[in-house]
Amino acid sequence: MRRHTTRSPAVVRNLGILAHVDAGKTTLTERVLYATGATYKRGEVHDGTTVTDFDAQERDRGITIFAAAVSCEWAGHRINLIDTPGHVDFSDEVERSLRVLDGAVAVFDGVAGVEPQSESVWRRADRHGVPRVAFVNKLDRAGADLDTAVASIRDRLRVTPLVAQLPIGREHAFTGVVDLPRMRALTWDRDVLREGPVPDDLLDEARRRRRLLEEAVAELHPGALEEFCARPEISAGTLQTALRDLTRSGDGVVVLCGSAYRNRGVEPLLDAVVAYLPSPLDVPPVRGTHAGAEQERAADPEAPLAALAFKVSSTATGRLTFLRLYAGTLRKGDTVLDAGAERTERVARILRVQADRHTEVDRAVAGDIVAVAGPKAARPGATLCAREAPLLLEPPSATEPVVSVA
Ligand code: GDP
Repeated sequence: MRRHTTRSPAVVRNLGILAHVDAGKTTLTERVLYATGATYKRGEVHDGTTVTDFDAQERDRGITIFAAAVSCEWAGHRINLIDTPGHVDFSDEVERSLRVLDGAVAVFDGVAGVEPQSESVWRRADRHGVPRVAFVNKLDRAGADLDTAVASIRDRLRVTPLVAQLPIGREHAFTGVVDLPRMRALTWDRDVLREGPVPDDLLDEARRRRRLLEEAVAELHPGALEEFCARPEISAGTLQTALRDLTRSGDGVVVLCGSAYRNRGVEPLLDAVVAYLPSPLDVPPVRGTHAGAEQERAADPEAPLAALAFKVSSTATGRLTFLRLYAGTLRKGDTVLDAGAERTERVARILRVQADRHTEVDRAVAGDIVAVAGPKAARPGATLCAREAPLLLEPPSATEPVVSVA
């Protein structure tokens, strides 16, 4: 069995995909796993074979109820994709999945734009301070229009859209996008991405849109403003740095577009996730309590362990507890403290859950998301921490279900 090497927290992205039901979250998730090579068998939503939709109850209802975390690799980074239930019920689970994310892709329907439920999901992510990039999906559909969707993002979500792509072709003739920071055309022929110069007939429009992007960025970012005033145009490098800073501060949202169903736009979206969304080192240290006093713990592999159990599943592999490690290093065979229950638990195995398999690893470090086998009683919401340095990340709850079946 292949053992994955431990990754520095800097190259980890703990990512959620947030969406209104039907906006295309499942399709996009499946395409991300396909693009990252995590799955080779291509599932489709309508035949019920998509890899994150494996829960029978979920399949029956056609909605995503239970969170699953799946790891994949993109451009030297590990992306831990945390499924965030979009349904209004199950709010403890929704809140906790938002808590363990460091960043998210918000998916909008290119025909409907911002819908009431996408607004409530957006506000929830605001409350958790989750930096986001927006993906306007379904641009291949009749009636889809990026500009209308962008206007609804500005008006309904009251955030400054930083539109970083210009679609090439409309509706069924949608074939690709112009990447405005780099002024390159990205087109898809079946599943193959091609990069080339901006087509002549789109050049004027692409230049105009790039200027609009520069103006929007310069208004919000001092470094970009300096270059905007001093030079004929802002360089691609400065634009990308500014877009990263504005994403992380929440002062603006980068807007990308595509068609998940037709597999167009997924690779640039993954590039944006890596470039703009924060790593576990870029977010504030986790806070918890011990003996009535608040404490912080940094995302340092050398610090004492602090991990939050955010899902417990009964699987074919047995009972698995999904953990977000905030601090320290967890090694196979470790005995850890369940801080709320004041009980110790042994971690017999550590697993990295991928789309089509589980890979056993010897250890996991701060910032990562893994599943562990061994703890028999840990509930969702439990803190597992170093015995010699207790920390409670969430007050214990008596009402939550212990195990979900997946
Ligand atoms: P979810 O409820 O957000 O998970 O949405 P799904 O991924 O299940 O998609 C809802 C429906 O929209 C399904 O019938 C998909 O095939 C369809 N769909 C998803 N993405 C696209 C797209 O880019 N274009 C078109 N035309 N349909 C899409």
